[in-house]
Amino acid sequence: MHYFSTNRRSPYANFREAVLAGQPDDRGLFFPSEIPRHDVNFFNGLDDLSTGDLAFQVMKPYIMGEITDDELARICHETVNFEIPLVRLTDEISALELFHGPTLAFKDVGARFMSRCLGYFSRAFSEKTVVVVATSGDTGGAVAAGFHNVDGVEVVILFPKGRVSKVQEMQLTRLGGNVTTLELHGSFDDCQAIAKQLLADEALRGKAKLTSANSINIARWLPQQIYYFAAIAGWDGEPPIFCVPSGNFGNLAAGMLANASGLPVKRFIAACNANDVVPRYMETFKYRPRPSIATLSNAMDVGDPSNFVRILEIFGHDDAKLAEVFAAKSISDVETAATMREMYKQCNYIADPHGAVAFRVLRDNLDRATGEKGIFLETAHPVKFDSVADILGFESALPTSISELASRPSASIEVENDYEAVRDILVGKL
Ligand SMILES: *Cc1c(COP(=O)(O)O)cnc(C)c1O
Repeated sequence: MHYFSTNRRSPYANFREAVLAGQPDDRGLFFPSEIPRHDVNFFNGLDDLSTGDLAFQVMKPYIMGEITDDELARICHETVNFEIPLVRLTDEISALELFHGPTLAFKDVGARFMSRCLGYFSRAFSEKTVVVVATSGDTGGAVAAGFHNVDGVEVVILFPKGRVSKVQEMQLTRLGGNVTTLELHGSFDDCQAIAKQLLADEALRGKAKLTSANSINIARWLPQQIYYFAAIAGWDGEPPIFCVPSGNFGNLAAGMLANASGLPVKRFIAACNANDVVPRYMETFKYRPRPSIATLSNAMDVGDPSNFVRILEIFGHDDAKLAEVFAAKSISDVETAATMREMYKQCNYIADPHGAVAFRVLRDNLDRATGEKGIFLETAHPVKFDSVADILGFESALPTSISELASRPSASIEVENDYEAVRDILVGKL
């Protein structure tokens, strides 16, 4: 197996090359040349595996021996050293809770796996590896925490001061160690512009290996398959439907990849907010990216979902085949908020806005006549979003990981919206 570019104008890469490059030169996405097939015995034995062992089995065929088995096992156990519980909400619907990791969001898994792969590969380099992340809150927090205390890697994270939620701010500012957090007097776009400039700075590149830990990196994408295997391990009966709250479509593409390697799933539904490029695609089979619209489920505010092409690739770009096992639906913020209230009243469940979008879409699209049952992915803990308390009318208790953070001193540095000021701080770390 090797990785090819979905644009097909770059050479093949092995796992290591694809992880270090992030994206092929032709600006496509890396995709495995063969999808490994697991046999029936593997699925029958899922119950007996720990989540870490499961992660090892799922990831091993994709690594192509470029990380030793011992190291890969260690990486996998560190990546998923938390629960992925399946919680039944109604007779037909269960929540797969992906928020029990260190930053209470599902991106922890991909970020932790990637950080450890980069740490492993960077042992061969003499210069330091520096990961530069700009964040509007959620993603960057998972990446920064994922790289925290990974040997040989420095992290510089930029976020717009005062524009992230309380919990996100705590998660971003209290890390310390190899993570330098900069609170920029500016917007998220300013943060991103500076991050891009750092990554392109030739003089800096001579001093360190700079990388962006981009969300399309295969080391962030592939490990997300683990959730779906973990869900099936705890599932009895006919194959379920998975409903996935989707923005960039990485999580969903990973589930479909798992299915292509033999995981029993009846069908998939993408749950979207007002950013409905993929629901429109499924009606017209025309891909029309649009500027993103701000919504309650803001981690899904994506107008040009980069990973959707990986889904098309799994189906050999055959739209009819895709439509047999895949639907995409969109709901409004008003429906999202109403669903959060309903879920609390009827199921005594506090959902975050992203999970609520998925619950609603699943509930509205299950075929009860054929006895369909489904799992929706609850992708973040509700305390991460200030809107939850506004909508439900009460504050929920902070998980212990957050109250512990609150007692630590803030280690962030305030900085003006100025490239040279940020660059000086970074150079001081090399
Ligand atoms: C990133 C994110 C999503 C969307 O996942 P994609 O893989 O980008 O589709 C959904 N929910 C939450 C909480 C997220 O952080």
